[in-house]
Amino acid sequence: MSKQRLEGKVAIITGAASGIGEATARIFAAHGALVVIADIQDELGAGVVASIGPDKCKYKHCDVRSEKEVEELVGFAIKAYGRLDIMFSNAGISEKITSSILDVDFDVLDNVIAVNVRGIAATIKHAGRAMVASGTRGSIICTASIAATRGGYGRAVYTTSKHALVGLVRSAAAELGRHGIRANCVSPAGVATPLALKYTGQSQSQSDEIFEGMMVLKGGGPLKASDTGEAALFLASDESAFVTGQNLIVDGGATAVGAIPP
Ligand code: NAD
Repeated sequence: MSKQRLEGKVAIITGAASGIGEATARIFAAHGALVVIADIQDELGAGVVASIGPDKCKYKHCDVRSEKEVEELVGFAIKAYGRLDIMFSNAGISEKITSSILDVDFDVLDNVIAVNVRGIAATIKHAGRAMVASGTRGSIICTASIAATRGGYGRAVYTTSKHALVGLVRSAAAELGRHGIRANCVSPAGVATPLALKYTGQSQSQSDEIFEGMMVLKGGGPLKASDTGEAALFLASDESAFVTGQNLIVDGGATAVGAIPP
């Protein structure tokens, strides 16, 4: 059996009914954590709990746009498992990835910011408060994106939201460090999850081909949701005890080289 890197720790993962959040829930549970899976897709979330095992995780409905629901989520985890060590704030959405900045729809913009920035701020606030109150040297991890590292084509709103959340996380690291609490981002490149396929309009194989083409590392296939989960595991574990305020990019080297194709 693999080493239990999160033994005795309790984690919340938002957006864990699907994609990167789901893959990370499986990895955290396999490494000994007790996990609260939070999402708005209740049936999918319940299915994830059933497949991981109800002795290792529980599902809680939480729309991260609602501060009240985020506060209740943190309370739920502490009531269920007695503590909170890890907040993986991962839920995110995008506008359709072909939209022009000249046609920005402000209802869409408000909603993307509400999930990707306001939602992240709410999870940092309430997880941070709980960790400070209990004296827990916790780890907060937020899913940004390679879209947080540079401007891009056809998704100005998403790009803006991801840049903003990196600023939030760096500020959280600065403020919470005195309490022993760490805050970092994990930034995937393209992974053919339901989110990516919905907003690009591509098939799984088209998406895999494009995303694989972006990477300088060849021959390993396209990125998988679990690749980001493994990076989140490092940031969640005591192995990263002195890593805070960072943005760990999991992109097969894509952002290390020149332009990323639109
Ligand atoms: P996904 O669609 O598979 O999963 C996202 C989950 O978030 C879904 O289960 C969805 O129901 C949930 N969610 C959406 N709005 C929510 C809300 N208001 N409250 C709570 N949950 C909500 O997509 P994914 O690719 O796994 O995305 C996870 C994160 O990774 C996002 O933050 C996304 O921006 C980021 N990301 C993804 C990619 C990629 O190519 N897939 C690349 C870079 C960053």
